[in-house]
Amino acid sequence: MPTPSAAPVLRVALPVPLPRLFDYLPPAGGRADADWIGCRVRVPFGRRELVGVVAETGPAGDDAPELKAALARLDPEPLLAGELLDSLRWAARYYHEPLGQVLATALPTALRAGQPLPDTCAHGWTLTEAGRTGLAGLRPHSRPRRIAERLREGVVAEDRLDLESDDWRPVMRALARRGYVERVALPPRHAVAEATPGPALNGAQRAAVAEITAAFGRFRPLLLEGVTGSGKTEVYLEAIADTLRRGRQALVLVPEIGLTPQTLRRFRARLGVPVHALHSGLADGERARVWAAMWRGQARVLVGTRSAIFCPLPEAGLIVVDEEHDGSYKQQDGLRYSARDLALVRGKALGVPVLLGSATPSLESLHHAHAGRYGHLSLRQRAGEARPPSVRVLDIRKRKLDAGLSEELLAAIDTRLRRGEQVLVFKNRRGYAPVLLCHDCGWSAQCRRCDAPMTVHGRGRRLICHHCGARQSVPPACPACASLALQPQGAGTERIEDALAARFPDYPLVRVDRETTRHRDAVEKHLATLGDGPGLLVGTQILAKGHDLPRLTLVCVVGIDEGLFSADFRAPERLAQLLIQVAGRAGRAQAAGEVILQTHHPEHPLLTTLLAGGYPAFAALELAQREAAGFPPFAHLALLRAEAPDEGAVTAFLRAARAALAGDETVALHGPLPAPMARRAGRHRGQLLLSAPLRPALQARLHAGVPRLYALPEARRVRWSLDVDPLDL
Ligand code: ADP
Ligand code: ZN
Ligand code: ZN
Repeated sequence: MPTPSAAPVLRVALPVPLPRLFDYLPPAGGRADADWIGCRVRVPFGRRELVGVVAETGPAGDDAPELKAALARLDPEPLLAGELLDSLRWAARYYHEPLGQVLATALPTALRAGQPLPDTCAHGWTLTEAGRTGLAGLRPHSRPRRIAERLREGVVAEDRLDLESDDWRPVMRALARRGYVERVALPPRHAVAEATPGPALNGAQRAAVAEITAAFGRFRPLLLEGVTGSGKTEVYLEAIADTLRRGRQALVLVPEIGLTPQTLRRFRARLGVPVHALHSGLADGERARVWAAMWRGQARVLVGTRSAIFCPLPEAGLIVVDEEHDGSYKQQDGLRYSARDLALVRGKALGVPVLLGSATPSLESLHHAHAGRYGHLSLRQRAGEARPPSVRVLDIRKRKLDAGLSEELLAAIDTRLRRGEQVLVFKNRRGYAPVLLCHDCGWSAQCRRCDAPMTVHGRGRRLICHHCGARQSVPPACPACASLALQPQGAGTERIEDALAARFPDYPLVRVDRETTRHRDAVEKHLATLGDGPGLLVGTQILAKGHDLPRLTLVCVVGIDEGLFSADFRAPERLAQLLIQVAGRAGRAQAAGEVILQTHHPEHPLLTTLLAGGYPAFAALELAQREAAGFPPFAHLALLRAEAPDEGAVTAFLRAARAALAGDETVALHGPLPAPMARRAGRHRGQLLLSAPLRPALQARLHAGVPRLYALPEARRVRWSLDVDPLDL
């Protein structure tokens, strides 16, 4: 049936990797007017059915001979509208991703699959008649008895119960099965508890809060720089409380490892309203519920990791990005967005201040602050009674080491333990040892599918590739020379744990890395086993943040030397941030803290600058070097990556891409080059780097060139992706 060309059609963004929208007729009897925009529709696509979002309506394109009709409209009113839809369109343009792919990233899985916007009414619990009479029969002081008693005065909100206890739900369900309690709906915007006031803010904190509140109602980026323990979170809380008093919503982004139950409890207790959380540990249904609660304006405060930046903010008042330098804000696959950068984009579109907090701001943000584009707030001292830790560099050249630990270090640990204090040994490498080496012929265990050595695990029995997950047992003899002299080289957290356990058998010892903490809440459980007495913690980056440890007075940093000489231009920045972050764990309590840095390179400029002048001195030096070398923030980058089982296909694609992206000298093209790890999981990897002093020049070039990449015949034989503002080159 030919379509009359005048009748408007729906232009639908579908989750397929093609840079275009797809035209459909409205379902039978419907008219494609503007109120479809932002609504989800179910449409036929090839032999499948897909859920997409109507992005535009208008006359059908010329290339559409015969249009199919959409099967159903899934939203009575637009799911995506106004600022959120505009910001998502902006993201599609800026990251050069098809809008359908951006929408698929932004929407919670359940909504992407076409499920209706879930019910978000808040609930509470109350005693039934049976409960009132039956209560007396429950064993005194038992958990069921206490919870039933708690409901005596009337309905108690679930958020309130969350505040009081972590594990009331199973007990409540058991009471419900006996008919003693029932779940009831609460009116929207119920209060959870009296907000508990925080400490009286010091002068610097008050000044920071004043700057933030002065910016309410308009876009203003603010960088809040303050060492760990300087009271940044108290500043956030005060500014959020103010936001709530004005009847506006607040969004707080936190890094993946920062969203601990401790953090949420602190926010809930202080604000007195429900605090919603969004993180990777939530079930699909729960994620959709939080999103819907924001959409309806029922949720007033959302604390979430990266993807929370895609939540609706119909009554936005403030956006906070905690630890704004953190790498977890950058998504490393699919739509390679930076949640920090999108926070600024949305803040601008919404007309609200965006507060970026960090002890160690990214060089990008510092550069903006120095240039006056961001307000710059600082908290120079630790709040409360905590004092800054003293830092000592321990030169271990020519020293004897046991699992990478020097005798001096072990002696310092011993002293602290004897005093009843806790010690953290930080090593950013999990496993037993990073390499298995044949002492006789020099053979080392390499992954068959990656250009990388396999890591020794299982106390020296297993080999695991950290890049592709390949596993095998350690061979009984060297595959090259049959020697039995196979030796694990270097030390990961597992080996350090063994060495410390042997040396300090009488103290509790907890290892925290990705292996021991598969589950989100595992870190807190682990730390709880340490208790209040003396003890040892061994761990990776997971330990660098969150989880107050008041008894922790000594932090030992070992094995940082490889980071000092990495080829990645961001490696110094990352290392400096990590060192400051880890050092910040020492002495958050009254007792004076100490940090010992063990290294073979005590004279390295990164360490000497950091020690003498702290992060600001390091950042000044590093920014000067970036400027001289023409790296961000003094240049803007985009990285085109390609991979395929066939190396020739990768090179052919990148050569053709180079031609498609070529132009005048405002944008420099480097490559094709092999990726830093040229083979991973059996696939060859290459890249082409685009670099420009000015962002608009780079964007213009990508706009002209990227659509051509989809059409290249060479593109069919590779997997390719574009990374705008890449973190890793
Ligand atoms: P940050 O977020 O910068 O690491 P926090 O806000 O968590 O710092 O504060 C560190 C500790 O100091 C917390 O225990 C906090 O309650 C306390 N604190 C913060 N501000 C003050 C203040 N003005 N007076 C007393 N204690 C404070
Ligand atoms: Zn050998
Ligand atoms: Zn591998």
